[in-house]
Amino acid sequence: MLANHCLRGSPHGAANWCKVAFRATSQRAPPFARSIRRLATKASRYGPALTGNTMLQHSTKTLLRRTATRHASSITAVHGRQIIDSRGNPTVEVDITTTDGLFRASCPSGASTGAYEAVELRDGGSTFMGKGVLGAVKNVNEVLGPAMIGMDPTQQEAIDEKMFALDGTPNKGKMGANAILGISLAASKAGAGAKKVPLYQHYADLAGNSVTPMTLPVPCFNVINGGEHAGNKLAFQEFFVIPTGAQSFSHAMAIGCEVFHNLKAVIKAKFGGDATLIGDEGGFAPPCSVDSGLEMLMEAIDKAGHSGVCTVGLDVASSEFKVEGENAYDLDFKTSGADKDTSLKLSGDDMLAFYQKISNDYPIVTIEDPFDQDDWDNWTKITAALGDKVQIVGDDLTVTNPSIIAKAIDQKACNCLLLKVNQIGSITESIRAVQDAKRAGWGVMTSHRSGETEDDYIADLAVGLCTGEIKTGAPCRGER
Ligand code: PEP
Ligand code: MG
Repeated sequence: MLANHCLRGSPHGAANWCKVAFRATSQRAPPFARSIRRLATKASRYGPALTGNTMLQHSTKTLLRRTATRHASSITAVHGRQIIDSRGNPTVEVDITTTDGLFRASCPSGASTGAYEAVELRDGGSTFMGKGVLGAVKNVNEVLGPAMIGMDPTQQEAIDEKMFALDGTPNKGKMGANAILGISLAASKAGAGAKKVPLYQHYADLAGNSVTPMTLPVPCFNVINGGEHAGNKLAFQEFFVIPTGAQSFSHAMAIGCEVFHNLKAVIKAKFGGDATLIGDEGGFAPPCSVDSGLEMLMEAIDKAGHSGVCTVGLDVASSEFKVEGENAYDLDFKTSGADKDTSLKLSGDDMLAFYQKISNDYPIVTIEDPFDQDDWDNWTKITAALGDKVQIVGDDLTVTNPSIIAKAIDQKACNCLLLKVNQIGSITESIRAVQDAKRAGWGVMTSHRSGETEDDYIADLAVGLCTGEIKTGAPCRGER
């Protein structure tokens, strides 16, 4: 539906590719956003009924009626516990009970974490390789939780501010961002419950957004995994197939799944079945280079019959392979000793030239973390050089932190925010981060973490905060 000329080389800035595309997908929005998978299921089941304005108007009226029947609610109990995430590591789950019922949320966790993220409190010691979260759970149950009793769950800012005060540190290092976020997320669900509106509507209300008509995000499928997320030698962490020309969200899901399966066949034919094993986010982890990975992606898109409607993207996660003390990046960072390929050590300028080359060779529309989180000069250089046709996304650079986002806006270091609520540790600050990014004219991509649970709140965040883009890994594994 969207011609390539709309997506690349746009005079209106890099985020234009997705703005155009998600407007197209929003025309067929289903009435509720629960998770990307469930959104897709609903969209395909009810797709024909949702294509006209009638359904949208109906859902708008229903929402308005529901919003009008708000009633007072208060928190009566908070209970935290330790659960296990998709990588076999402990994480925090929180139940909040209100006069309306029980609301549950759990925290994700990253592997290629930014140095300036809020502190995820871990127990240390030998149990669970030091990754236990019983200390954070204790803070939920004995300090933060009791302070929430009697509060109105619709008052998200008051809830979050009270927890910030109890923590008293700039990085949530005392209570733990995992403890604070667990309560913040569960409270937001309780707030939606109190208002009797879908969670995305509550997020929209908190942000002052209108979600009529709803805007469903363009899903970015991470179908090749490398970096810290896979055991292969590939340095770059994520390779996205992005159905920017899809007619609807359900169409985009079908395209992503079809490319995923075709990619499996391409990899199997080249390297055998062993190479189709998957990484942390459900994408394949073949023994490839950046170029050959992109080549296989293009082949899979072509084989699936979707050449005209797919673009591609990258999360380089380059902070993981910056050479300390040098203006250099080691693309063979997983190899040591005699086998190491020293020709894969590139200077900042070489990296920029490489990004320019692959952006000319492939339909790349987004590049995340092309440089290290402290390499501000190179960030500014790449945004000046490529930012008019490629979206440059800050993840480790900006860590969903309004004060670092302000610096990135000032230095013109990137033009898109990756939204990860556990980087900052609360819903209130995440909404501020998104608002600041949008005011600066940036795009916003809602993101999962590589360690996930089955909590699907990010689908609601993407819709309620109108981010227009989402990445949730590959269409593979239940938590994705
Ligand atoms: C990312 O880097 O964007 C990502 C999702 O990985 P992680 O959660 O490991 O930071
Ligand atoms: Mg990233």
